[in-house]
Amino acid sequence: MKKHNFNAGPSILPHETVENTAKAILDFNHSGLSIMEISHRHKDFQAVMDEAEALFKEILDIPEGYSVLFLGGGASLEFCMVPYNFMEKKAAYLNTGTWANKAEKEAKGLAFGEVVEVASSKADNYVYIPKGYTVPADADYFHYTTNNTIYGTEIHHDLEVNVPMVADMSSDIFSRPVDVSKYICIYGGAQKNLAPAGVTFVIVKNDALGKVSHYIPTMLDYRTHVEKGSMFNTPPVVPIYGALMTLRWLKAQGGVKEMQRRAKERAEMLYGEIDRNRLFRGTVTCEEDRSYMNICFIMKDEYKDLEPEFAAFAAEHGMVGVKGHRSVGGFRASCYNALPKESVQALIDCMQEFERKH
Ligand SMILES: *Cc1c(COP(=O)(O)O)cnc(C)c1O
Repeated sequence: MKKHNFNAGPSILPHETVENTAKAILDFNHSGLSIMEISHRHKDFQAVMDEAEALFKEILDIPEGYSVLFLGGGASLEFCMVPYNFMEKKAAYLNTGTWANKAEKEAKGLAFGEVVEVASSKADNYVYIPKGYTVPADADYFHYTTNNTIYGTEIHHDLEVNVPMVADMSSDIFSRPVDVSKYICIYGGAQKNLAPAGVTFVIVKNDALGKVSHYIPTMLDYRTHVEKGSMFNTPPVVPIYGALMTLRWLKAQGGVKEMQRRAKERAEMLYGEIDRNRLFRGTVTCEEDRSYMNICFIMKDEYKDLEPEFAAFAAEHGMVGVKGHRSVGGFRASCYNALPKESVQALIDCMQEFERKH
């Protein structure tokens, strides 16, 4: 039976990414060696790194003066690298979900600055994105999470504030155009929308670096990685190769505008069914905050007992990974760039058939 991959992360990748990475693992560039068995300093791997950087910049239309890095440590390590590199006195954070909260916690734990939480929807279990807050004009930066993977809310546009912005785009990178010039740093774990787990992408504005007075440990200092082209230490070569394959795919498919069109189309289909179906309801209370990437829904109160049955029913029909995160419950269909709309249709068919049965 065909599997429909709604996993939240690691998650679906383009077929080309999986197939070409598998080939390179067996035989990289007809060298007779696996990509896992060669030096990261080999010229053929340097070419992979160079092309990945160049394509990343091209597809996201990144202006001059920015570097693209491929690092280890996950988005979780960026939570501490960001304040190390950019917080001199004060940083502002928007608390919209589990990951946003974790990012804020790391900044708060460092002794060299004050962290201001400008707004939070935590008390309401993050079912909406707070609006109408003020960002202190003397903050070194404003940090936010564009897509809240666990709660299924998303900020679909670049925010407008009076200080430089930093964003965690782990789960919606390359799903829409971004005005990178508004940010000093954009980062994310690559395992949601770009590559196999193990690599973190960071876009950093070069002239925003080197402005803090405290010591930054070498590995946490973005300048180290900018200067060495992400090769200060051994980079995660296989995930970077996977990222390159996805970047080539993205370009061939029509780039971020096309990804945005597909994401909207999938989201309209699935939210349409959630709102129509007698058994289900969406968890996000504000319609404009509904994520295109992670679509969260539960069963209406009167049908709550049917949740395990629907989970089993969906699994029998080939749906993978639709169980909701434990902090939300119910269901979450992650619809990343590589997910075909046929998979969304298959889930909708399943929901309709289940409705008929009950
Ligand atoms: C998955 C995720 C993270 C954590 O990423 P790691 O690479 O596992 O550290 C952080 N932020 C967001 C928005 C995520 O979706």
